[in-house]
Amino acid sequence: MGRRKKIVQECETLMDEPEHIRNIAIAAHVDHGKTTLSDNLLAGAGMISDETAGEQLAMDTEEDEQERGITIDAANVSMTHEYEGRNHLINLIDTPGHVDFGGDVTRAMRAVDGALVVVDAVEGAMPQTETVLRQALREGVKPALFINKVDRLINELQEGPQEMQQRLMDVIGDVNELIRGMTEEMDDITEDWSVSVEEGTVAFGSALYKWGVSMPSMEATGISFGDIIDMEQNDERDELHERTPLSNVVLDMVAEHFPNPLTAQPFRVPRIWRGDDESEIAEDMRTVNREGDIVFMCTDIGMDPHAGEIATGRVFSGTLKKGQELFVSGTAGRNRIQSVGIYMGGEREELDRGVPAGNIAAVTGLKDAIAGSTVSDVEMTPFESIEHISEPVITKS
Ligand code: GDP
Repeated sequence: MGRRKKIVQECETLMDEPEHIRNIAIAAHVDHGKTTLSDNLLAGAGMISDETAGEQLAMDTEEDEQERGITIDAANVSMTHEYEGRNHLINLIDTPGHVDFGGDVTRAMRAVDGALVVVDAVEGAMPQTETVLRQALREGVKPALFINKVDRLINELQEGPQEMQQRLMDVIGDVNELIRGMTEEMDDITEDWSVSVEEGTVAFGSALYKWGVSMPSMEATGISFGDIIDMEQNDERDELHERTPLSNVVLDMVAEHFPNPLTAQPFRVPRIWRGDDESEIAEDMRTVNREGDIVFMCTDIGMDPHAGEIATGRVFSGTLKKGQELFVSGTAGRNRIQSVGIYMGGEREELDRGVPAGNIAAVTGLKDAIAGSTVSDVEMTPFESIEHISEPVITKS
């Protein structure tokens, strides 16, 4: 069996195990390394070759767009990752990094439960870091931090272990100040959502050179900051990558610390949906009931020259299947689903089976849906409209 087919089969099995699903987004200030990190994850999951990662081919959809005439403004990918002896299905939504795409970032956040925030170690938290964090937290999406470009601290800034640690702690402190400031006013976030090295919700590394570390990974591999500096300086990056691959470190963090849909939906649904919380549909969404009424939240519409419009989104309840006739919020009549599928390396893979609650699905046939539509088999209160949080406006005086 081909590799791709095998991965599709693994994804199909895991789709039915919500406790092993993680729906995540990567969000960052422009140029902090989101695309390069995404490629590392894809290569680690066997979706693209190791050599290709870092050259930003898979998630950089512009080339793809031109070649195939497809508009993909947020590339979506499903992959599998083994953590503590269990396979996990990681559905990754890439978010546009440019300020103009703020609305897309917010929409992507609605489909996920965890946000991996990437910050450049040299630049630190930037205005857009604040914006993406705010977007994530408003949607009830839990953050974790990846501090990227640590190689620059070593090679460009010539920092030693202590300076480097201090700088990383400063970045973490700044990010936590933002998180605490934002969650303070949110009554339903009672847990401390700040990130911490000790708890393993922070990882550091170099997406360019494909290595990464976290507290748990350093304990497991015995690799210290001193070792990293030596290996970076002695041009032993390939060895560093082999001994502590970035994709493993980050995906372990994702599996361990981001909530699965069973944990996330009971918390997130009241935040993003204001319907009757005593209703059956509320209960179906809270319990991620794949046998329940269908609720699909469309977060993006893309165009495929062969298949037409592709609606991407999160299945909150029920199971989406070909042939279903569903309501699209704000429109009259029903749309018939022509195909359902998942994303693999930016490409859609149609499936013969349905896509159950807790997953990200790619659907054709929803001709009336727009990004933000609630799609359901019974008429229901739609999800809250997705608020676009724009960048702070800087006016010249
Ligand atoms: P995005 O805009 O957040 O998607 O950022 P990209 O992934 O496109 O990266 C922006 C630039 O930073 C590119 O030139 C990358 O090669 C570079 N870059 C990404 N990660 C690293 C890293 O870990 N170290 C260094 N030195 N450069 C990196």
